[in-house]
Amino acid sequence: MLSVEEALQKILDAVDVLDTETVPILESLGQVLAEDVISDITVPPLDNSAMDGYAVRSIDTQGATEKIPKILKIIDTVIAGGISKKEVTPGTAIRIMTGAPIPPGADSVVQFEDTDDPKNKDASSNQTPVQVKVFTETKIGQSIRHAGEDVAKGKTSLKKGTVIRPAEIGLMASMGHSRVKVIRRPVVAIISTGNELVEIDKPPAEGKIYDSNSYSIAGLVKRYGCIPKMLGIARDNEKDLVKKLKQAQDADMLLTTGGVSMGDYDMVKDILARDGEMVFWKVRVKPGKPLAFGRIKGKNKSIPHLGLPGNAASCMVSFELFVRPALLKMMGKNNLVKPTVEAIIEDTVKNDAGRRIYDRAIIEKRDGHYYARLTGPQGSGILTSMSLANGLVLIPEESGGVKKGDTVQVLMLDWNEEVNI
Ligand code: AMP
Ligand code: MG
Repeated sequence: MLSVEEALQKILDAVDVLDTETVPILESLGQVLAEDVISDITVPPLDNSAMDGYAVRSIDTQGATEKIPKILKIIDTVIAGGISKKEVTPGTAIRIMTGAPIPPGADSVVQFEDTDDPKNKDASSNQTPVQVKVFTETKIGQSIRHAGEDVAKGKTSLKKGTVIRPAEIGLMASMGHSRVKVIRRPVVAIISTGNELVEIDKPPAEGKIYDSNSYSIAGLVKRYGCIPKMLGIARDNEKDLVKKLKQAQDADMLLTTGGVSMGDYDMVKDILARDGEMVFWKVRVKPGKPLAFGRIKGKNKSIPHLGLPGNAASCMVSFELFVRPALLKMMGKNNLVKPTVEAIIEDTVKNDAGRRIYDRAIIEKRDGHYYARLTGPQGSGILTSMSLANGLVLIPEESGGVKKGDTVQVLMLDWNEEVNI
């Protein structure tokens, strides 16, 4: 049986980065840039004011104090989006709003708070005040934002390989880019197998259970930025399974749940071995031992197929360990490591299974340390154990287990994926 690392390596070796697509910038959130982004404009385009105030010549303000203000003649007003055609000449000032271009002649801006402007304004008329008293000296360049201080024309602003976050979307918008070339999101076909399964909008007959795996797995696929293609339930017979597998032919990856254990009707692995190529079956991990990995025939390509275990908690843990890194690689991401911390475990956990255990746990930070306690019963079908958990505690194989107070590694389930500490 393969170790977790060996199994993951085989999966990663068998998947490639997908091709590219050009999408509206907002849709690219979480995708990876497929080319350098270079601006053909300068941002901001012109020197502009960082304050509401007066554009002045610094020399005209020298010696100004509250008691002995400098009085300047106001010759114009310029608002954001406008351009003043006037020039600030000795003894004059132009009223200026934040973001408005600095008029010629001015070398600094004095904010309203350092002038008599509020008193100067006559609220009952729209008249601009004719003169302003300046109470402080300005330094050359004061409160001026320089052209190109954010983005320089012709320079690479975002590098190929960058994972796009809201800041990158904003930056592209500031350059006037409406679309961006990124690595495509994988389409992931999802099939649940089992004679006992019922669709969630149908009444459950006696002995049947609802198909929850399709939904938890589709949720994970979406969480990691991929596109779920839910193909529904395949019954535990060859004909039905083969028919459903055909519907997965366009996908970039196929995930099935169930039908990979030792039972009489567990035929997913047999059909994978017969019609496709089986790379491995079974991993030294708990939950999730009966994991099958191979490739099936698709349209003009072969599709990686992970046969996840049927148990509701097992299939989610298997996804986190084996599917998530593969999908991230296909999306062009480099950081495939799940955000991990060290925590002090508050339960004693035996491990005589000869497999690595990933127990579901609640992680809390107290007094500068992370603490992990199990969510309760860890049965592989108990989905509540996943719902209560924010981490997976790793109990090493061959360790015999861990004692309360020991330090353990924890995969943080809900931490931002780009966290890399
Ligand atoms: P299997 O590996 O097919 O034997 O399934 C193992 C266990 O997981 C059985 O108890 C199944 O009823 C359960 N199971 C399989 N598929 C699903 C599913 N889609 N939703 C919920 N439980 C499932
Ligand atoms: Mg089954």
